[in-house]
Formats: sequence, structure tokens, C-alpha cells
Amino acid sequence: MRLIPLQSSLFVLAAMGALGCAHADTVIDNVNGYTLDGKNALLRFASMAFDDKGKVIAVGSKAQVAARAPKAKHVDMQGKTVIPGLIDAHGHVFGLGEQLTQLDLAGSATLADALKAAGDYARANPAQAWLRGRGWNQEIWKLGRFPTAAELDGAVADRPVWLERVDGHAGWANTKALQLAGITRDTPDPAGGKIMRDAAGNATGVLVDAAQELVGKVLPRQTEAGARVVLDRALQQIASMGLTSVHDAGIGAAQDALYRNYADHGKLTARVYAMIGDTGEDFDLLSAKGPLKTYAGDMYALRAVKLYSDGALGSRGAALLAPYSDEPKSHGLLFRKNADIYAMMEKAMKRGYQVNVHAIGDAGNRQILDGYQKLVGQTASAGQRHRMEHAQVVALSDIARFKSIGIVPSMQPTHATSDMNMAEQRVGAERIKGAYAWRTFLKQGSRIACGSDFPVESSNPFYGIHAAVTRQDAAGKPAAGWYANEAMTLKEAFRCFTLDAAYSAHQEKTLGSLEAGKWADFIVIDQDIFTIPAADIHKTGVLQTWVGGRQVFGAGK
Ligand SMILES: [Zn+2]
Repeated sequence: MRLIPLQSSLFVLAAMGALGCAHADTVIDNVNGYTLDGKNALLRFASMAFDDKGKVIAVGSKAQVAARAPKAKHVDMQGKTVIPGLIDAHGHVFGLGEQLTQLDLAGSATLADALKAAGDYARANPAQAWLRGRGWNQEIWKLGRFPTAAELDGAVADRPVWLERVDGHAGWANTKALQLAGITRDTPDPAGGKIMRDAAGNATGVLVDAAQELVGKVLPRQTEAGARVVLDRALQQIASMGLTSVHDAGIGAAQDALYRNYADHGKLTARVYAMIGDTGEDFDLLSAKGPLKTYAGDMYALRAVKLYSDGALGSRGAALLAPYSDEPKSHGLLFRKNADIYAMMEKAMKRGYQVNVHAIGDAGNRQILDGYQKLVGQTASAGQRHRMEHAQVVALSDIARFKSIGIVPSMQPTHATSDMNMAEQRVGAERIKGAYAWRTFLKQGSRIACGSDFPVESSNPFYGIHAAVTRQDAAGKPAAGWYANEAMTLKEAFRCFTLDAAYSAHQEKTLGSLEAGKWADFIVIDQDIFTIPAADIHKTGVLQTWVGGRQVFGAGK
């Protein structure tokens, strides 16, 4: 308890008399509530009390809860459904904010649509020296090839344009941007990257994986003011989606400083569990004092590192053990030699960090599993709960190694339903059995941390729960579900977006369920996902979002 000088305590007492207690407990009543408990049972509750610090006092019947919080302020939830705040275990917060503030091509159905959108955006933003955007996907356009700089010049030629592919693993430049980046026919492909070229060897405009950095290094640096606009926009979106915690898959020192500043000033409206991108300069700086396990009332943590093994399936950058089924000359790309990536993993492990490695292809997953197998024991870091980000196409014989080595698969259900047609073309009928294989992982006792990889996919976690349960897209396709034998039950999907996502961040004792002593992170939704048909889960709307007992989104805020 805080000691208050006599005079101000008299004032507080007077204010309490007039306004009701300013620092009282709160009870939400008349709730259709669901939470998991420590024994993995799905509990129902009608009331929940939380204190002025934002921690749950009790959940249960109205009478039970009233007895535990006799002087509380009561809020009538009018029978609405309340569940724990959902957790996205893999997203890119600043990428989401950029998507929301830059040219968004995620909705473009054809190349012509995208070019028109780029031209319109250029005319609407005459002062922007560089035009940036993301979200294009030549697969959706049914183009059968990458788009070109010449095509983009047709829409915008007076300024450089840089448009990231939907998965962030390729970028599309116009001629101005290629010139500014100094890319000519003599520029070699950098390690782990590819410059798309015509028959004469000239760059055609798309840069894959590490080659994107050629343009990346000439992009204007983001100012702090610009970063604040981007973060504000992302946080608004995150709160409106019913996410109370997100794991940011790769940040640098500038983002870390901004997160701490936002947390200090009560502006962080979602908890952020951040991973340091790479083990270079920023890691050395940020790890000087060791992992930051918790900050500002568990609003922020920085105790993980994000590394990359390979690229993505869509751009055929994912590393496969055998060639691509639809491009027999290509195995994709491992970003680094074993010795190099293992040295990075070891460096982070030795400094006490959780190591979370992006691995999409079966060769990428195997490279990293081999690394974990070698290093986890050596560094005595099993307790760090190291993760594989995506674990998307895994050799069937490698899946058991996640359990035996103790690696958490961090998976994104909507990747399956967005990728399903493309993925099977890329890897064929046999390898697809180890792809997006949630049921196989769950059956062996792996705890899957679910997320979306926003802005690659929508940040809406109900899309993820829907995809996890149905293996169908929002249009209900395919009718029987895509490899429906790998679907989750609703309870499992709910757990992967709450308790198990929290587990993958060492936070299952404070987050992920509504139980006494945990943070009162909860959302009010407009339908009961446990009683409606699974096909309707993706239509769920969020009415209110509360983080640590504070409402951050919705009516009444
Ligand atoms: Zn990602």
C-alpha cells in the first residue's frame, strides 16, 4: 500500500464519497464467460472481479464473486460473451502499422489493379519522395511470373517505388528505385538473395530475400515521429481485433526504445513480447544488461531473438530437401551456412535468450532442428523454450524431434488456408503431409503457439481460430476442409491463441486465462464461439478489449 500524506488522504476519502471509490475493485456481472483453467478444463463464469492494479480477484457465479469483492463497482455486461484476451504469438507490429499507413496492395486482384492503385497513391501523396507499400501477390494475380520494373514505371516513373510482396520475402522496385540502389546487370546476387533477371541478365525489378537489402539500404530512415504514427495505428488495430498481447517477431534498438517509452507512459494498449531481430549490433546493444523478462507491469518483455533459416514458399525461397515440385531446378535457399547460423543461435543462447528461428521448408526446419539438438544441451538452455517460427513444411520424420528436443512450434493457421493451393503445387502430394500439420504436433504433446504473422495475414485472431478448426477459408472452401485430419478442435485452437501462446513467452502464469492472480486481460465479443457453427467463427466481432483491467477498445471506453 502506498502511504499518502494526511491531507491528500482526506481529499481522497472525500472524493470517494462523492464519486464512488476511485480505486475500487471492479466486478463485471451478467457475463457469458469462458476461460481455460490450469487443468485444461473449459470453465464457465457469470462474474469476474479484478482489482485496481488490473489483476483478477475471482471468477465464478455472481454470488461467489460478490463475496470476494464486496465493495466493488459493478458493470453489467448484459449477457455478452467474455473470453481471455487473445494472444498473437507471431506478428510484426511496425509492419502492420506501415501496411495501414502506406499503399496497401493486399486487396489487389490483378496486376492492373495493383498498378492503378500505385498510380492513384502517387497522385494522392505528391510530397512523398519514396512511395512504399506492400501486400502484392503474383499468385493471386495468376500472373505465372513476377511483375517487372517496366510495368511499375508505367504507373509511377517520377519517383522511386518499393513494394514488398505479401510475405515480405520479395520486393518490387521501379526503375528509379533500382537506379538509386545501384543495381545493374553487373550486380551479383548477394548471399541468401536473388535478383530476378531477364535473359540478358538485366534486373527485371523483383528482389528476393537478402537481395531486398540492396534497396533497403537506400530507403530513407524512419524518423521517430514517423515511427510513432506507425505504432499508434498498429496498436489501434491490435486492440480492435481483441488481441491483448502480441509477440513482435524481430525488432531493433529504435523499436525497443519506443516500446519502453510507450509502456512508461501508459500508451502501450497491448502487451508486447519482443524478439530482437538477429544477433548483430542491435543485439549487442540490447543484450548488454541481459534479457528483459518483464517491464512496466508485464506490458513489455525483451528476452528472445529472431533468426531466419530460409525464405517463404510463395517466392520459392523456402529451403527444401528435394527440388520444388513445380520448379525442378530449385531447392530454394538456406540463408546461411550451418556454422554461421549455429554460431548466432549459440551466441543468443549463451546470453540467456530464447531463440526463435523462422523455418518454412523441410530443409530449413531440419537445419535448425540439427542446430537445437547440438546446442540446447551444450548451452543448458532447454528452459528457454526455444521456438521454431512457422514450422510450415516439416519432413515427417522430423516432427517428433520438436518434442524430443523441446522446441515450441509457433504456427499460423491462416497460412494454411491462404497457401493451400500454392503449397501443394510447390511441394507435391507427399511432402504436403508434413505441412501445416497441427494435429500431428498436438498428438505428440507439442504446445503450439498460434499467431497470424500479421501483416502477412490479417491480424484478426478469429480468422486464425476459424482456419485452425475448419481448415477452410472464409468462403468455406474447400467444403470438406483442406487435409481436415490436421484440424484442431475449438478448445485446442482457443488454447493455442491463449495459454499456449503465453507459454511460448514464459507468461502462462500471468496471462492466457482468467484466474485469480492473473492479469485481467479480456475481451467482449458479439457471439458465443463455443455454441455457433464453426463456419461462422470468422465473423466474430470484438465489442470491447481490456488489458490489465483497463478498457482499451470499444464502446464505453
Ligand atoms: Zn513473420
